[in-house]
Amino acid sequence: MMLSARVLQRVLRPNWRVLSCYSYGTVAKPKPHLNPDIQFNQIFINNEWHDSVSGKTFPTINPATGEKICDVAEGDKADVDKAVVAAQEAFQLGSAWRTMDASDRGVLINKLADLMERDRDYLASLETLDNGKPFHVAHAADLSLSIKCLRYYAGWTDKIHGKTIPIDGDYFCYTRHEPVGVCGQIIPWNFPLLMLCWKLGPALATGNTIVMKPAEQTPLTALYVANLIKEAGFPPGVVNMIPGYGPTAGAAIAEHMDVEKVAFTGSTEVGHIIQQAAGKSNLKKVTLELGGKSPNIIFSDADMHDAVEQSHFGLFFNQGQCCCAGSRTFVHESVYDEFVERSVERAKKRTIGNPFDDSNEQGPQVDEEQMNKILHLIDSGKKEGAKLLIGGNRYGDKGYFIEPTVFADVQDNMRIAKEEIFGPVMQIMKFKDINEVIKRANTTTYGLAAAVHTTDINKAIMIANGVRAGTVWVNCYDVFTTQAPFGGYKMSGSGRELGEYGLEAYTEVKTVTLKIPQKNS
Ligand code: ADP
Repeated sequence: MMLSARVLQRVLRPNWRVLSCYSYGTVAKPKPHLNPDIQFNQIFINNEWHDSVSGKTFPTINPATGEKICDVAEGDKADVDKAVVAAQEAFQLGSAWRTMDASDRGVLINKLADLMERDRDYLASLETLDNGKPFHVAHAADLSLSIKCLRYYAGWTDKIHGKTIPIDGDYFCYTRHEPVGVCGQIIPWNFPLLMLCWKLGPALATGNTIVMKPAEQTPLTALYVANLIKEAGFPPGVVNMIPGYGPTAGAAIAEHMDVEKVAFTGSTEVGHIIQQAAGKSNLKKVTLELGGKSPNIIFSDADMHDAVEQSHFGLFFNQGQCCCAGSRTFVHESVYDEFVERSVERAKKRTIGNPFDDSNEQGPQVDEEQMNKILHLIDSGKKEGAKLLIGGNRYGDKGYFIEPTVFADVQDNMRIAKEEIFGPVMQIMKFKDINEVIKRANTTTYGLAAAVHTTDINKAIMIANGVRAGTVWVNCYDVFTTQAPFGGYKMSGSGRELGEYGLEAYTEVKTVTLKIPQKNS
C-alpha cells in the first residue's frame, strides 16, 4: 500500500476512485457511516469509563449543521488527578507495563493500529461528523497517516538503546534510555486522530504512561480509540483520556506536580501558558508544536501549473486549518499576474459543502468561533486595502462554511500577512529578488514551515538554507511522513515530533558507571 505526499496531494481531487490507485491498494472501498453511532462519551481512566467527578457535561457540535451530536463528560482538575494516579500506578517499577518485553509493547501498538484499520470506515465517519473534514480525506489521509504513525513507532520499541562509553579510569560506563514517566498530552481539533497518534506513538514506544486531553471541539474519535486501547490489551492506566476544556482540564495537566512531561499542540498563545505552568509547577519537560505563518515562494522558472496547484493545496487543505499552511504566498513579479489569475481560477473550482459527499473538497470550519475569527480577519484585509478577488463570505447559512477566499496585493504589514488566519484565505504578495524574499520570509515571529517552487537547484538551496523554519518543501507542500521530523523554530514551538527525533522528548538518559575490580586487589 503506497501512501505519502502523493496521497495528500491527491486528496485535492474529490473523487475517491482517483485516490484509490495511490492509497487503498487492497483496502476495501470506504463506506461512510452517515449517522455513526456514538458509543463513548465518558472519561477513560484505568481502562474504565467514568462520569466526571463534578457530574458536568459539555456538548459536541456537528460543524456542518451547527447541531449537537451528543453531550460528553466534562473532565476537570479532579478527573485529571484521578487519571494521574492511575498513570503513576501503571508506571510503578514491577508493573505489568514496566516489566513487559519491549518487543511486546510493539505488538500492542501494532494491535491498536490493526483495530483502527478494522474500524477505519467508522473512525473516518466519526472524524467527519465531529470535525467537518470531508470523509474521503479523513479516510485516505488522516486514517492512513495515523495508522502508519503507530506502526512506525511500534517498530521502535525494541530498538531504543543506549551506548557504552570508554570513560577515563577503570570503569564500565553505559547509558540507558528510560521512559520519562507520566506524560500529559494536550491535542488540538484540526487533526484529532492524527495528533493523537503523533503523541501516543512515541510515548508508548518508549514505555511512558499517558494522560491525554483531546480538544473540546472534537473529543469523539479520541474516546473511541481509548476503547480500542483497552481492546488491544494495554494494561489499565497506561493511557487515560480526559475530555474537557483547556483552561480547566488542560491547565490541570500542565500544572500537575506529578506529570513529568507535557506535549502540547495548539496555538502559540496557549503554548505560552503551558510553558509558564510547567515553570511554575515542577519544571516538567515541555514540547510545543504551535502556530505558523509559513512563506511559500514562487519563482518565475517554476512549473506554473504545479506551483498553482501546490500553493492551493498548501493553503486550502483541511479548510485552511493547518498550523503549517502556506499562508504567505510570495510570487516573483514577472509571473505575479499569471499566478494570481490562475490561483483565483483554481479557488473558483474548489467544491464546498456536505463533508460526507465525496464530490466536496472543503467542509465547514470546526466551530462558530473559528468561523467568526476568520471572517473578522477577512474584514481587516479588506479594510487595510488588500485586493479581494474571490470569496470573503460565509457560505450558506447553516453550519460554519466559508467561501474559498483569495487576496492579492497583500502588504507585509497588514494583519492578514502577519496573523495566523487558520481558514481558507490565501494571501498573495509580490517580490523582486531572492535576498529580499528571504528577508521578508523571515520577518515573522513564527518558523514552522516554508516552501519554494523553482526549477533552479541553486535558488532552492538558497531558500532552504536561508529560511528559519523547521521544515522546507521544494516543489511540493504538506509532505508528511512519519519517518521525518516536524517542529518549529522561534515561536512555532520547541522540540520535534515524528521520526527518530520524536523519541527524544520521551526518554531520560541515565548514565551507569561500574568500577572494574583490579586483578590483584
Ligand atoms: P485553538 O485556538 O486552535 O482552538 P488552542 O491552543 O486553544 O487552539 O487549543 C489546543 C488545545 O489546547 C485544546 O485541547 C485546548 O482545550 C487546549 N487548551 C486551551 N487552553 C488551554 C490552557 N489554558 N491550558 C491547557 N490547555 C489548553
